[in-house]
Amino acid sequence: RDARQAADRALPAQTRDGHRVEIAANVNRPEKVAEALTAGAEGVGLMRTEFLFLERDTAPDEEEQYATYRAMIEALQGRTLIIRALDIGGDKQVPYLNLPHEENPFLGVRGARLQLRRPDLLEPQLRALYRAAAHGPMSIMFPMITSLDEVRTLRTHCERIRQELNAPQVPLGIMVEVPAVATMADRLAEHVDFFSIGTNDLTQYALAIDRQHPELAREADSLHPAVLRLIQQTVDGARRHQVWVGVCGGLAGDPLGAAILTGLGVHELSMSPRDIPAVKARLRAATHSTLLELARQALDCDSAADVRALEGDAA
Ligand code: PEP
Ligand code: MG
Repeated sequence: RDARQAADRALPAQTRDGHRVEIAANVNRPEKVAEALTAGAEGVGLMRTEFLFLERDTAPDEEEQYATYRAMIEALQGRTLIIRALDIGGDKQVPYLNLPHEENPFLGVRGARLQLRRPDLLEPQLRALYRAAAHGPMSIMFPMITSLDEVRTLRTHCERIRQELNAPQVPLGIMVEVPAVATMADRLAEHVDFFSIGTNDLTQYALAIDRQHPELAREADSLHPAVLRLIQQTVDGARRHQVWVGVCGGLAGDPLGAAILTGLGVHELSMSPRDIPAVKARLRAATHSTLLELARQALDCDSAADVRALEGDAA
């Protein structure tokens, strides 16, 4: 029985009629890669680099970051890896950075906004990433992007550092987690190599619900049709420029969410390793045409509850 389960976990997320979606894991540490692969991951769709900065007194220097990124690449042995640049701010505070107090940190200087203001954080991280890139495939992704200007500036920094180090080209992508980016996806797609949709933040910003609010967070349901429509806009905008779209927020690890996202046309789902078996089972039991129909119905619902009710009807 264990052998049977292990064999099932290794099967691809392919529908009965042959539509395949990549399944990746959200993994922050090289030591956790083996576990993710055993769970059935085909690569890592999100490495959150914040973990390197948390629970310590000083920032990791370029050498330490390089060693960790390189270890991650080596643990993956040629499989895909998306490393996300530092996403500090919002809910992730780091005392030793002495960042000014903000009344609304989720709407403040977080993610790429912080990186662009702090060369002392951006430079060592980009140098470490480009040095690591010599050891195997990886992509770099920037969090909390809001505007094309940010993308242009970050790409310029990346290219300058790449040339300084004589490093290989690396695909450069952005998180889609601010509604402005989802609605402008057709324009931004001309300037990025890929998108990865962060449904956790996209939901909190679309619904104006703090994702950690003690009373309201339960209502921040990523299956809300408003969120699904933003995802559809993202996929449509990306498709016009043949840009690859992954999803690395919590919705990707929910079997119904994964089914709808596949119907909406995303290429990859990246999730916590423990969610992989159920998502694969859900997609392998389906046909692509039922998923397309499910996505169409979900976009036409009035509420997240109505979207959830579709699971009962779906064959
Ligand atoms: C997200 O916002 O969906 C996401 C994947 O990033 P994080 O949860 O780290 O903010
Ligand atoms: Mg996020």
